[in-house]
Amino acid sequence: MHVDLSNKTAVITGGSSGIGLAAAELFLEADANVAICGRDTTKLDEVKNKLVGVHDEKRILSCSCDVLNRDEVEDFVSEVGKKFGGVDMLINNAGQARVSTFSSTTEEDWREELELKFFSIIHCSKAFLQLLEKSTIGSIVCTGSLLAKQPEPHLLATSAARAGQLSLVHGMAKELADKNIRVNTVLVGQVESDQWRKRFEALEDKQISWEKYKSDIAVKAGVPLGRMGTPREAATAIFFLATPMSSFTTGSTIDVSGGLARHVG
Ligand code: NDP
Repeated sequence: MHVDLSNKTAVITGGSSGIGLAAAELFLEADANVAICGRDTTKLDEVKNKLVGVHDEKRILSCSCDVLNRDEVEDFVSEVGKKFGGVDMLINNAGQARVSTFSSTTEEDWREELELKFFSIIHCSKAFLQLLEKSTIGSIVCTGSLLAKQPEPHLLATSAARAGQLSLVHGMAKELADKNIRVNTVLVGQVESDQWRKRFEALEDKQISWEKYKSDIAVKAGVPLGRMGTPREAATAIFFLATPMSSFTTGSTIDVSGGLARHVG
């Protein structure tokens, strides 16, 4: 099934690697305009060059923007408005997990983690709202985590923050329904991406391969499908929730965890 998104615009925060980059590729394949942001300009330039090699440069915008910095987010909105004239789909994806227990999480860590998980969504959703309101297919999708419903002791602060974030997004969905903007979340389990690559590269044991590392993670976690997910698998769920394919769905979630969820519903 081909979804035609020509003349529609998707904004993807954290679009310079992993799930966000895979989402950018999917939207471009559906003929949408795509704006991505991240903090590392070298990485953004590399990714832009890669995308421009396959898709029309006129449909691609890449901006340096820290989603926790309101001024930078406002500048990003202006750049997107200037280049594309509007926004139809906002993907709040930027972020990363924090490996820490209750004992090892400092007060500063708590503040950073809560700030990241809440304000990455609050700043961008508020800043893009005016443009989204003008769209006939306005939607927001947040990349969340299964940890919101199934906390892990070694990811304690992230789990708590993700649970709060899920509540925030649910509330936004009810409020923004009046403006005809749908708001949904993808609950990601373990999906291979740059953040996992960095953890792999930090291993002391340099004998272990990337394939073995990934497979060990899935086995240790007990993922029923027996492997980590790919960025494109998570991005496909994002794409579904962002586009009119899911036009009667808001305040909802899709689990992309390979069956890792133990709860019902
Ligand atoms: P990656 O590390 O591959 O991608 C993260 C992206 O976010 C990068 O583009 C990064 O660019 C950007 N980013 C991080 N912080 C900021 C910031 N403050 N402002 C702007 N951009 C930022 O990881 P994933 O693809 O795995 O992560 C995507 C999302 O999925 C994250 O929110 C993550 O927490 C979530 N998730 C991932 C899981 C997984 O197993 N992969 C599991 C559960 C949730 P830069 O560093 O240059 O800013």
